[in-house]
This record gives sequence, C-alpha cells and structure tokens, in this order.
Amino acid sequence: HHFELGKKGNTTKLTVLKDITFHVDKGEIVSVVGKSGSGKSTLLNLISGFIRPTEGEIWIGDQKVTSLSEAKFADFRLNHMGFIFQSFQLIPTMTAYQNIELPLILKGETEEQRGQKTIEILEKVGLESFKDHYPSELSGGQQQRVSIARALILEPPLILADEPTGSLDSETETELLQFIKQLNEELGVTFLIITHDEEVARIGHRTITIRDGQLIEGAESI
Ligand code: ATP
Ligand code: MG
Repeated sequence: HHFELGKKGNTTKLTVLKDITFHVDKGEIVSVVGKSGSGKSTLLNLISGFIRPTEGEIWIGDQKVTSLSEAKFADFRLNHMGFIFQSFQLIPTMTAYQNIELPLILKGETEEQRGQKTIEILEKVGLESFKDHYPSELSGGQQQRVSIARALILEPPLILADEPTGSLDSETETELLQFIKQLNEELGVTFLIITHDEEVARIGHRTITIRDGQLIEGAESI
C-alpha cells in the first residue's frame, strides 16, 4: 500500500509509507519500531482515520475503514479504538474521574451507567483514591493510567499507543508496560504500540519495523 501526504499549501507530494502490508490478530500486542521520521505516527494516523491513504485498504475486523465517510469513521473510532499518547492528552480542567467519563458522555450514556463504569475502571487502574485529582496533581505514571482508563472505558477491541512511555522515567515505564501486559492478558485487548525504543518494543508478541516508510521485517511472522 502506498500512502502520500501532500505538503501544506503546495502540490509537492511526499510518499511517507509504501508497500506496507501487515496483520494484527485479536488479542495480540504488536510493536511498531522505527527511527524518528520513518512513518510510525503516520501509520497510526492512517489506522485511526485522522489521515486518509492515497492508495490501499485498511480493515479493522470486518470493516473496511478506508471506505468510511468522515462522520462514520468518527463513530467507528469511538466504538472500536482507544488511544494512548506520549503526552497523555488529558483535559487539564477536568478531574481524573471526569477525563475517564468523557467517552461515555460522548456516547450518550446515562449518568447512572457512567458512574458505575467510571468507578469500576478507576479501580481497575488502581486510582480510586485519586479520582478527584486534576492531571496536574498526578504523577506521570498516574496520568498515563488515567489515559489508559479513558482509552478502555468503551471496551474497544483495539488500543493504539504512540510512544506511551515516552514521558515516563524508566521505573514508571516498566510498571506501565507490565500494566499493558496485564490488561492484554486479562481483558484480551489488542494493542498496537509505536515506539522508537527497542526495549519498550519487547512488550510486543512481535515487532514490525519500519524504515523510510517501508516495512523491513516482522511482517507476517509467527
Ligand atoms: P517520530 O519517531 O519522530 O515520532 P515518526 O516515525 O512517527 O517519527 P512520522 O511523524 O510518521 O514519523 O513522519 C514520517 C514522515 O512524514 C516525516 O518525513 C515527516 O516529516 C512527514 N510528515 C508527517 N506528517 C506530515 C504532514 N502532515 N505533512 C507532510 N509531511 C508529513
Ligand atoms: Mg511519531
């Protein structure tokens, strides 16, 4: 598959990814590694529909997402994907509880349903006693747990993580990777984890390597 990104404001086309074919099984953790600028985030943005490929197809389950309209993709994304970012992307004016509850509000769930689910997931990530804390009152590791809780609250089959430990110290990084592993084992959540760190990549059942926009190893191993 061949993906191009148009450079802003002119007609120059930059081919960022090409001939990328891979498959992730349900319940797998797959790591995507590659140097800075190799196209990792672009790949993730294609899967999540924030950018569209010029060629090729992307399927999630039995849905060909590349043919969804913008509005349908937004809905699909809400129900099928959770996101974890290096910078956590929590809303600073909302408490841990409110950040986690947000997807349920977007989905139009009742206050009662929301309360029950939010408390349940706060317990799962071990942050019940921090529920009324604002992001600025939480450590990096705790903030990332809040963002994982928010990513999990609608029980999406797939979690996309772009450098999830990039802002954490090494001890917290180890803890977080353990936690991701535990979620994968206990809940069967599929993770696609982007990292430039080979150490972090080891959490994956297998690794896909991108170099200069091309897949160089690990395509269909195992
Ligand atoms: P890093 O590890 O630094 O996050 P990455 O592997 O995630 O790097 P990408 O962000 O996917 O890399 O970028 C791949 C290439 O695409 C780079 O050459 C980048 O400059 C280019 N690129 C990314 N987004 C755009 C865009 N919106 N318009 C034009 N070029 C872009
Ligand atoms: Mg990136």
